[in-house]
Amino acid sequence: MNRIAIFGGTFNPIHNGHLHIAQQFEKQLHVQRLLFIPTFVPPHKQISDLAPAEDRLEMCRLACLGTSYEVSDLEIRRGGPSYTAETLAELKQNNPGTELYFITGEDMFLTLEQWYQPELIYSLATICAAPRSTDGVDKLHAYAKRLAAHGARVILQNIDYLPVSSTMVRDAVRQGRSIDALVPPRVAHYIQENGLYQRN
Ligand code: ATP
Repeated sequence: MNRIAIFGGTFNPIHNGHLHIAQQFEKQLHVQRLLFIPTFVPPHKQISDLAPAEDRLEMCRLACLGTSYEVSDLEIRRGGPSYTAETLAELKQNNPGTELYFITGEDMFLTLEQWYQPELIYSLATICAAPRSTDGVDKLHAYAKRLAAHGARVILQNIDYLPVSSTMVRDAVRQGRSIDALVPPRVAHYIQENGLYQRN
């Protein structure tokens, strides 16, 4: 059966931590396609310095150049709050007979029960979660048990996480520090050329 992995996020901007967990899951899951899907409006996050959707999409495209990853503008085209349940339903409908895998880092995984229609998410995709802190794996295991009781299929991957976040990237830009160790060179260049994240 065909397998598609979906990596949803605000990607404000995409950074090396995102690319690292995508690589790890791509290896483990043997998926035919891995899609980065930037949100239009993130329903679970309040962000003061959210770059326009087109810029976040373009930075994802630049980060994925020369890789096998794809970038989808499905949530941006749909507009409104970007609910994962709706995205997965759309992908399932457009790709009949395909198994879906939804990749998430620790912080988002631990809030899954509060998402819009979580049970629909569980029925449409296997949830793939990775730690983002030193004691993350234990928390992931405990939470995965809870979700399994509601019918979720969960794959936990104990990868060495990269301690990088989009917040770190935005802070560094604002403070005039280098972001070369945090994002791919093309993304750093795009941020500079377009004057993103200069102020709050
Ligand atoms: P921000 O700092 O603005 O909150 P972020 O770095 O958390 O952003 P998002 O685009 O919100 O980035 O994250 C998208 C997905 O990627 C989430 O599931 C998140 O948990 C995961 N993720 C982000 N960074 C990492 C990382 N360094 N290691 C593992 N997972 C990560």
